[in-house]
Amino acid sequence: MLLKPGRKKIISYLSSPEKDPELFSAADRVRKKNLGDGIHVRGIVEFSNFCSKDCLYCGIRAGNRKIKRYRMSDGEILASAHRARRAGIMTVVLQSGEDPHFSTSRLCGVVEKIKKETGLAVTLSVGEKRYREYIDLKRAGADRYLLRFETSDKNLFCAVKPSSSYGRRFECISMLRAAGFQVGSGILIGLPGQTIETLADDIMLFREMKLDMIGVGPFIPHPDTPLGNFPPGTIESVLRVVALSRLASPRSHIPATTAMGSIDSEGRQKALMCGANVIMPNIGPLRYRKYYSLYPGKICVNDGPSRCAACVDGIIASLGRERASGFGHSIMGVRDGKNA
Ligand code: SAH
Ligand code: SF4
Repeated sequence: MLLKPGRKKIISYLSSPEKDPELFSAADRVRKKNLGDGIHVRGIVEFSNFCSKDCLYCGIRAGNRKIKRYRMSDGEILASAHRARRAGIMTVVLQSGEDPHFSTSRLCGVVEKIKKETGLAVTLSVGEKRYREYIDLKRAGADRYLLRFETSDKNLFCAVKPSSSYGRRFECISMLRAAGFQVGSGILIGLPGQTIETLADDIMLFREMKLDMIGVGPFIPHPDTPLGNFPPGTIESVLRVVALSRLASPRSHIPATTAMGSIDSEGRQKALMCGANVIMPNIGPLRYRKYYSLYPGKICVNDGPSRCAACVDGIIASLGRERASGFGHSIMGVRDGKNA
């Protein structure tokens, strides 16, 4: 029986490509039963590529002196949110490096303005902060927060995130919950030294953490980082993790991420057919896109906001699915009185 597989079963599926068709169709059924055919569209704005951290895999790490750094103005971020609203996108995701010069109070001001002027749901993905700051951002109106734990293997975590603490990362996730956010976390797939057993532990942890959102994607080596010569995660392994995450966490939102589309031109479509139910087009200004280079070969760096919105509508239609209505809040349980 495939429903709610245990660790042993998960390991067996992760290492048996011949069982993929059975696994993927079971995940697709579970997605349909729990979340329907609607695909939630979230518009992402990458508002700063300054980062004080030095994650070994990431192209915008502090140690990469080769990239041009940028920080969008409050007006540019706000204009992106208005553009999303006009395109019928009901969530804006604000993401950045850990930029100490973009203060939390400034970010609170931006969130307040977006909420007041557009009414959109706001998701933040701005890294590790103090509890007080999370509280302030929640009070400013932010609804959700994404903070991947990247891997549950402590040794691997410490090796690839030398400027972060494993314990602190999980503490931040707990603080986000306590602050009232709908919480998303996730992992990188294919990190050097990562094993199938670790991936199984990651998937078990998603379930234990009762995550509102589960965001996973392939590790893609960036040439200007210490991991530049390692092989990327494969689309097959990513799809297996998506499908098993869906079975383990039937009601969590799971996006088909940009990184999946970057290693395989059909990657996002494939993910949406084996458990994923969210897509996140980039809606920020075109001129900054190429500098937010977490990894090379990122798709959508040359398509303006309107092309991106049209492209995701094309993907949704090609799958015979529909754009979901409403804000796409978590359906994991009523938090903040919102679960639509
Ligand atoms: N600074 C914040 C948010 C921006 S990074 C943070 O780290 O949480 C967002 C995500 O990009 C990270 O969680 C990581 O999983 C992913 N990422 C970074 N470098 C990557 C790479 N080389 N390949 C694939 N994904 C990468
Ligand atoms: Fe900074 Fe996030 Fe990249 Fe790490 S993954 S270097 S915290 S932007």
